[in-house]
Amino acid sequence: MSCLFGPVPSRRLGLSLGVDLVPYKVCSYNCIYCEVGETTNLTLERKEYVSFEEVKRELGGFLSSGGGADYITFSGFGEPTLNSKLGEVARWIRAETEIPIALLTNASLFWREDVREEASLAHVVLPSLDAVSPPVFREINRPHPDLEVKRIVEGLILFSKGFEGEIWLEILMVKGVNDQEEEVERLAEVVKEIAPHKIQLNTVVRPPAVANTSPLTYHDMEEIAKRFPGKVEIVGSPTDHSALSINDLDNSVLETVLRRPCTVKDLIKVTGASELEVKTTLKSLILQNRVEGIKIGEELFYKGKM
Ligand code: SF4
Repeated sequence: MSCLFGPVPSRRLGLSLGVDLVPYKVCSYNCIYCEVGETTNLTLERKEYVSFEEVKRELGGFLSSGGGADYITFSGFGEPTLNSKLGEVARWIRAETEIPIALLTNASLFWREDVREEASLAHVVLPSLDAVSPPVFREINRPHPDLEVKRIVEGLILFSKGFEGEIWLEILMVKGVNDQEEEVERLAEVVKEIAPHKIQLNTVVRPPAVANTSPLTYHDMEEIAKRFPGKVEIVGSPTDHSALSINDLDNSVLETVLRRPCTVKDLIKVTGASELEVKTTLKSLILQNRVEGIKIGEELFYKGKM
């Protein structure tokens, strides 16, 4: 089975080429909402689950044949930081291509300095954090018994202080599990310290590992979003797909360029988003054939398609 997946259009990352660094299903968690399924190897052991040589061969082939993507994304059927060659793979990719690296991680190993160092080789890190208090953490993430949420949170905070790229923190809400006022309050306190570039608030939108794991309504998600500091996007809602986000960058960009052609700079001003976010959003909208780029003189404008 190939360790490459895609490139596929991703709402969060534009055109994303997935690199699976662990096979089914090696993870340090066994989240009740996991859409991959139950963890079959619940472990904290770092090893070369997918070989560096295999990644080099497949990704090298992809790149030398002219393959492109907006991001090369470390993901897989579990937790990519469990692969002990993460740093070597990331360094090799950085030497081979200018395509930025995204890391999807549950951050459970961020208490380890080596993992923080290796993770910092990515350009964008998308860690998840669903709970702060130990009982809720155990209920929602069903972690390896040696994991302590306090150390994970400390590791994440430490990582955020030294990381030069962007952190997009994902919090997944499960009804009746981590949506109580006190837990949301605790999460908000931690989020203040991590100060991520943005928070992506999610809920159960695909079949979960454990039956009866229920989503929040869009209204509840909106109420919870208000409790967090900074920029919050609601990225999943089963009840209202037409309004995916209270700060929906896709809609905001599309609405703007449907009315008048804009440059990336214009859109940064209008939306308040970063250059990286605006470019990622534009690429995703171009892929959906909803926006086109038009060059006028030296300037590249983006125009919405009706
Ligand atoms: S951390 Fe991710 S892959 Fe692992 S069990 Fe949770 S949702 Fe699934």
